[in-house]
Amino acid sequence: MKRFTQAAWDEPLINELSRPGRVGNLVPTDRQIKSRFKDPASLVPPSLRRDSVNLPELSELQVLRHFNRLSQMNFSVELGMYPLGSCTMKYNPKVSEMIAGSDGMKHAHPLQPAETAQGLLSIFYELERYLSEITGMSRFSLSTAAGAQGELAGVLMIRKYLMDHGGAGRDEILVPDSAHGTNPASAAMAGFKVVKVPSDEDGQVRAKSVAELCSEKTAGMMFTVPNTLGLFEGEVAEVSSAVHRAGGLMYYDGANMNALLGRARPGDMGFDVVHLNLHKTFATPHGGGGPGAGPVGVTRKLAEYLPVPVVSKGKTGYSLDYDLKHSIGPLKGFVGNSAVLLRAYIYIRLLGASGLADVSSLAVLAANYLWKSLDPDAFPASHGKGMRRKHEAVVSVKSELPGAAMSVAKAVLDYGMHAPTVYFPLIVHEALMIEPTESEPLEMLDEYAAALNEIYGKLKDGNLGEVPRNTSVGKVDEVKASHPMTLRVHW
Ligand SMILES: *Cc1c(COP(=O)(O)O)cnc(C)c1O
Repeated sequence: MKRFTQAAWDEPLINELSRPGRVGNLVPTDRQIKSRFKDPASLVPPSLRRDSVNLPELSELQVLRHFNRLSQMNFSVELGMYPLGSCTMKYNPKVSEMIAGSDGMKHAHPLQPAETAQGLLSIFYELERYLSEITGMSRFSLSTAAGAQGELAGVLMIRKYLMDHGGAGRDEILVPDSAHGTNPASAAMAGFKVVKVPSDEDGQVRAKSVAELCSEKTAGMMFTVPNTLGLFEGEVAEVSSAVHRAGGLMYYDGANMNALLGRARPGDMGFDVVHLNLHKTFATPHGGGGPGAGPVGVTRKLAEYLPVPVVSKGKTGYSLDYDLKHSIGPLKGFVGNSAVLLRAYIYIRLLGASGLADVSSLAVLAANYLWKSLDPDAFPASHGKGMRRKHEAVVSVKSELPGAAMSVAKAVLDYGMHAPTVYFPLIVHEALMIEPTESEPLEMLDEYAAALNEIYGKLKDGNLGEVPRNTSVGKVDEVKASHPMTLRVHW
């Protein structure tokens, strides 16, 4: 029996098991077909044949075993906690999967006439209303496929709005030093200069520092609340006022909405534009970079600037509306990732308003419980020591050893658990960023904290050794993985 060790992984697995002439297809019983299947190549027209396609030759059972084994080398939220801070890796209800995979959904086509897709369009219309209510915005465009794309849409709207309102010379966007990297990247992609706003020792952006950085150049500010340190920004209302007074607009990075769901609304904090990450807060899958959904919402004065299409309701029913007067244009085909949007709609309907508020209270409770279960001498809080956390906790691994946070993260894998986010936010030394979400039972939180505390004990005593030891794939050579990069540009 092959053990899936690092060495085994390095071998070309499939070719090793392949034997010439071994077949895995089930042959139909009909004699005539059977005789043709003896030479499967005869089914392919001669003009399309190649000499050899060099496929591995395996039995059906071998193929099954191979893929089942690979699937067991994976980690998922259905195997254990996935406490990746900032990612909100919560459980995605199975009922949403069932409905998203139903025939009606599978067979829907973006080009079918709107009158034959009224059910689905009505769902998107209602979803837009729910998201507007949850955030305190006036309208949403659902099409953008990720938080980052929502950000780009948002700052492009800010730019166009300012140009139409005598603000063409405003070319600076304020971004706090604790922000996610996508914020400055989106602002730069939209043609803005990024002005960094420092956070203080409590991890707070102060209205005073914002006011000092504001000028007639200010187009707006991108702000994450609670921030990536897991802390609520206590001066958010004053910060919004300062930016508005200077003539700029406020952008809300909604990636951390899990902490506020059903309890506080960015619209009430003075924000003009928001994005939500449905694949975080609204329990839709995070699939290796997509498909996700990062709808973007705005207040009334910006409604005509949204990316198209939006879903409209008229006398003849629902339709995809491409006629917004000042729209920045389309950023994604049709209504976006429709099956993802449907799952978010189901999630909201399953929970209702009070259920959504329970989500945020449980998420905050779980994060604070886990944080308080950690040894405070081993994992001191980086900022805001006396403050309560929101949906996640950021701690610093206390050690003289370089790469201590990475060692702790790798050691967690040996417990059959997933590591937290490491080395983010950038302003925290040896950072671990832990977000348990509301999905986790108490026992899991206890187990995780116990593992981290035990690992720290070994690290401190110099007994950690080379980690991880028990995983099917060992520690990746990160220098090799990133250094001799082969970059290819496809035009
Ligand atoms: C995840 C995240 C983003 C980017 O969202 P994507 O959907 O991954 O593009 C932006 N800001 C913060 C704070 C995030 O956590």
